[in-house]
Amino acid sequence: MTDIKQKLVKLTSELIEFQSVVDDLQAKENVMKYTENQLRVPEIKIKRYKSRGIPSLVATFKSKSNPEIMLNGHLDVVPAANNDFTPRVKGNRLYGRGSGDMKAGCAVMIEIMKYFAKQKKKPSLGLMLTADEEIGGFNGVNYLLKKGNYRPELAIIPDSGLDLSTLLIGQKGVLHLKVMAKGKAAHGAKPFLGENAIDKLIDIYRKLRKELPHIKQNEWKSSMSLGYIQGGEATNTVPDYAEMKLDIRFANQKEKDWIFGVLKKITPEYEILVQGSPLVQDKDDEYIKEYKEVVKQKIHKPIQFQRDEGASDGRFFSEAGISVICINIDCANLHGDNEWGDIKEMVKFYEVLVEYINKISQ
Ligand SMILES: [Zn+2]
Repeated sequence: MTDIKQKLVKLTSELIEFQSVVDDLQAKENVMKYTENQLRVPEIKIKRYKSRGIPSLVATFKSKSNPEIMLNGHLDVVPAANNDFTPRVKGNRLYGRGSGDMKAGCAVMIEIMKYFAKQKKKPSLGLMLTADEEIGGFNGVNYLLKKGNYRPELAIIPDSGLDLSTLLIGQKGVLHLKVMAKGKAAHGAKPFLGENAIDKLIDIYRKLRKELPHIKQNEWKSSMSLGYIQGGEATNTVPDYAEMKLDIRFANQKEKDWIFGVLKKITPEYEILVQGSPLVQDKDDEYIKEYKEVVKQKIHKPIQFQRDEGASDGRFFSEAGISVICINIDCANLHGDNEWGDIKEMVKFYEVLVEYINKISQ
């Protein structure tokens, strides 16, 4: 296994050096091209895609172009200081932007495709690599599932959770709304001649807040945050327009329908700015049960289940009714300074995947 350890450190390090940040389309193209070359072995078929300039690829075995199991990762990263794009190994950790989120995970999955490419009997397996997870995933996973027509039964995504034995079973959906209030302008000295739009907006906000009260940490309920409010022009003018922007997060589809019901009763004057599905994964799913067994055997740890307020590409699979195994290689300082990924866990992830894919492909 030392051979695979060296391969993974080398490949992850090379991926880290591509500064594939948010708006650098050229760097995203370069890193995609590089991974394409890595995957270029006779048994693997690669399909390249581009949506709004954002590149992605799907690698499959020639016999199965719409596989049952889809490995998924993103090669884009959030910005960092220049020296964070120079990978460093210290002890068991590989430092650098994207080491934890999630170029190490991508490196493992590339090596997994190459491993199974050499096996006589190939599993129904593919690898989907995208480059826009950090900006919503709409032109990556979303695009590939909708336009590429991929319909796996299972997606494995090493991008969430604490480690290989912590499975993510819930992520909230997102709803960004602009709520408007209209009134009638008048002189501030004669407010009775006008209709105050800010008053109306505050009234709407209070009603919404009553239905969506503040929640505490670890309370798995819908939440609402007022992020922007604007209205009025001068102290002595009754404003005729005001607006606010709300960030609402909901736990499941039922909650979302309920929120729209509430909203419609309170005001018809709103606009949807952003809408994203939640991730909901059943703990008793057959794929999860099998994964639990493999982890017990290989890592000697019981599986923990976790929910997380943030969003990830897992939601697009979940929305399409595809089971998701969202786990992570042990890592820290994601989106911050000194990001690192654990080298031993990279190898462990490789071993777990070989075992698991063989098990569910029998
Ligand atoms: Zn990520």
